[in-house]
Amino acid sequence: MEALLAGFSHFREHIYPEQQEVFERLASGQTPHTFFITCADSRVMPELMFNAGPGELFVLRNIGNIVPPYSNHVGGVTAAIEYAVGVLGVSNIVVCGHTDCGAMKAVLKPESLDGLPSVAAWLRHADTARHVAASHGHAHASDCLACLTEENIISQLDHLRTQPLVATRLAHGTLRIHGWIYDIAAGDIRAFDAATGRFAPLLSAVDGAAPEATPPARLGLLTQFQDVAA
Ligand code: ZN
Repeated sequence: MEALLAGFSHFREHIYPEQQEVFERLASGQTPHTFFITCADSRVMPELMFNAGPGELFVLRNIGNIVPPYSNHVGGVTAAIEYAVGVLGVSNIVVCGHTDCGAMKAVLKPESLDGLPSVAAWLRHADTARHVAASHGHAHASDCLACLTEENIISQLDHLRTQPLVATRLAHGTLRIHGWIYDIAAGDIRAFDAATGRFAPLLSAVDGAAPEATPPARLGLLTQFQDVAA
């Protein structure tokens, strides 16, 4: 508790006065450009990593950066996606995992979840990733964890695309989706590239085009084709 009070005291004395106009401007509404879904892990700090100020990132965190597939059972992640896409009109959705993820370690070692039925049930949303990762046949546990962490991002991106508003905006090309893995020790990010099916450094591209998980815009392309045909 002392750490929280000291931190808030610092905010009141230094941060708030420096940005008071920003906070007052944001008092009546927000227009974040990005919906950032990441793990609850305390070492992942989105605003710090992206030099983002108040009002820029709409953030949702849970154990394992899970996005349940769309279903009759409505949970907090689905509701947040619907609000971010349908009301806030975000331009980007990022699903961001990280190295040394406790959730991914637990998926690899299910016996560690004995006595934690809710966590075990939640992490069943990583079952597909676990199956695919197991098929890679890694000999070493560290390789297995890295592989599962990647497959989990790909799987959660698949789940994300089952959300009706996400699917609609992707079809029209008005939303971009991204699957990232943050390396805690290196302070670096690798991004899933849908074009190659692989992860690549986020900032490595010579032409400045970062790897993306966004699929082609079907309806946008169809409209253009019809315009040309007419
Ligand atoms: Zn984690």
